[in-house]
Amino acid sequence: SKDCELLSGRVISAHGLKSRVLGDDKTMYECAIRQVLKSLNIQQRGAVVAGDRVRFRAESPTDGMIEQIEPRRGIISRTSRGQQHILVANVDYLLIVASAAQPSLKPVLIDRFLLTAEQCELRPIILINKIDLVDPIALQPLIGAYASMGYRVLLTSASQGTNIDFLRGILRGNQTAVAGQSGVGKSSLLNAIQPGLGLAVREVSRDNDKGRHTTTASKLIPLDDGGAVFDTPGIRQFQLWDITAEEVAGLMPDLRPYVSGCRYPNCLHLSEDECAVKNAVADSRIDARRYDAYCHLLENDLML
Ligand code: GDP
Ligand code: ZN
Repeated sequence: SKDCELLSGRVISAHGLKSRVLGDDKTMYECAIRQVLKSLNIQQRGAVVAGDRVRFRAESPTDGMIEQIEPRRGIISRTSRGQQHILVANVDYLLIVASAAQPSLKPVLIDRFLLTAEQCELRPIILINKIDLVDPIALQPLIGAYASMGYRVLLTSASQGTNIDFLRGILRGNQTAVAGQSGVGKSSLLNAIQPGLGLAVREVSRDNDKGRHTTTASKLIPLDDGGAVFDTPGIRQFQLWDITAEEVAGLMPDLRPYVSGCRYPNCLHLSEDECAVKNAVADSRIDARRYDAYCHLLENDLML
């Protein structure tokens, strides 16, 4: 059949109507998109996104035409003015990168990314890098709390190579979105996983302990052993999108069991005396730090 002439590949980056597609034959093609597909797609700006699996027709050794987009799973999207914008598709894992120091560990940032993972139904992995700078024993209570919620936690040092093989094993064969504050070592980790990748690494700015942004364009970075990571500035720093205040507690696995037991409909679990969530915090069935993070996210991200 005619379909036999189509090649399979994945979209590395998309700019308007042009996209770069890495064929399963390991060749990079510059592809246009068949007009009919554009109108079928809900995505407004450009019909395909990084991470899409596509079937395309090679029109030359370097150019092609996308004929089919495979059904997506694991997308990260945001809604603005009622319109859904898909940022990346076919995300297997959300790798939430934090650092033990420089910049200092901020669990509330991890909690925020976890909410997004829960909302987008992505499997999160919490990674705490730069463990060479601290005594890992000090991290045990936090790690224990996350592990008891069912989250995977991985401690690494990109500079000393600690647990890099383990991380490489997780990424193998999967498409992974990497999130985390600037300066925590995301580029260093990827360079350690695949020497030769050559991602830019910047010194953390000493003035504000924040680091600078070194990448601008969204893309999928293929790894030698079949996996790939999304390098998307918008994902590195995303805020809570499309989550309402009423939804937050239900997206936290440790708070969730108490939400339905709360006697107040639409309770935000902030101030009511007989609130089931607050009762659980009071007798330590919910970790006080996580409840503080919950309040912080409602007040700061959702502007309550
Ligand atoms: P990104 O902004 O998250 O991509 O962070 P970078 O990879 O650019 O790293 C920021 C800084 O942290 C650089 O100076 C790195 O050399 C340093 N760094 C990265 N990983 C480690 C680590 O495991 N230990 C230590 N001590 N420094 C690290
Ligand atoms: Zn309540």
